[in-house]
Parts: sequence; structure tokens; C-alpha cells
Amino acid sequence: MDPFDVLVGEDITGWTRDEIVKVFLEYSDGEVIFIQRVKVAAMYSTFLAGLYQEITKIVGPAAKGLILNAAKNGGLRAGKGIRRRYNRERGELTTDKAFAIAKNMLAIWAEGFGWGKISAEMGDEIVIKMVNSFEADGYMRLKKEPAKQPVCWTIFGYVWGLLEGILNQRFYGEQTTCMAMGDDYCTLVFRPQ
Ligand SMILES: [Zn+2]
Repeated sequence: MDPFDVLVGEDITGWTRDEIVKVFLEYSDGEVIFIQRVKVAAMYSTFLAGLYQEITKIVGPAAKGLILNAAKNGGLRAGKGIRRRYNRERGELTTDKAFAIAKNMLAIWAEGFGWGKISAEMGDEIVIKMVNSFEADGYMRLKKEPAKQPVCWTIFGYVWGLLEGILNQRFYGEQTTCMAMGDDYCTLVFRPQ
């Protein structure tokens, strides 16, 4: 079974982690390959939070923009790649279909990769809610005080780029709540530009 066909052809948002791992991840020779092309690896949540803190010490508040941009570029590559392959093999990608595929990708990041429990409402405004964010967890383990601003920079940037790439449309994006700030969950909001 080609994982791309499953990604674009089925609703996997209710799948268990075992089901997702079986279809989308291959383990061999010290590598984990996602959808037959992207290499992924697990790391401690504190590594990422620690990296953000070290970068912030050197460049100040610009750190957020640097990480966000890098992650957004990663999401854009993924989104554009999916869109291109879909158009080539299956015809024009509709907005509804693009939303469905984006939700599937988020299900993989949530259940397969462990970035948090993610739910998404997609319409004129796109609202993503995350419980147990990997990045917020890292922050809270390193710091005793609640964060003054949202800290989920990588997932925020990635989702932003993924949506823009897959929908071929620009969005304004904002993280409005964060567990690291003491909120019950993290929220990402995107509006068309
Ligand atoms: Zn957060």
C-alpha cells in the first residue's frame, strides 16, 4: 500500500498510533523513514526548548522568527509536494480535499510523531487546538515560571507552511493560547490574507 494514496484517499484522523506507524513509517538500519522519503527521529522535548532558550540568549526576541521561518519552510515543502503530486496523479486538488489531507498530516504529527493531541476546525478561519504540546512540555520542564508568550514555534510554523503549501494560499497566523503560559491547551489560528 502506497502511503501517499492513504494520506490523500482516506480519513485517518481516528486512527490509532499503531495503525499510523504501520502505514507511514518504516524502521530500518537506524533510520525512520516517513512516507518513503523523509527521515525523522525522536528527541527529548527539553532539547528543543533548550535550543530555543540558547538562541534567544544570543539573538533575543528574533529567535522566535528564526525558528518559525525555518519550520514554516519545512511545512511549505511538505504542503507544496503533496499538492504537486496530487495534481499530477489525480487532477485538481479542491479546497475540501486539501483540508482533509492537512487534517491527516496533523493526525500523523499528533499520533505518529507525538507532538500533542491535535484537533482542527477548517473553514474560512482555521483553528488548531493542541493538548500536551511537545514544545510546551519541554518549556515547562526547563522553566519554573509560566511563559510570557506562546512557545510552540516549530509546530506553529510547520502547520502554517503546510496549510499555505497545500492550499496554495497565504494566511495570517497567530498562536493565541499555550499550555506553557498556563492555558488548558494551545491554539493556532489562521486567516486568509
Ligand atoms: Zn503551546
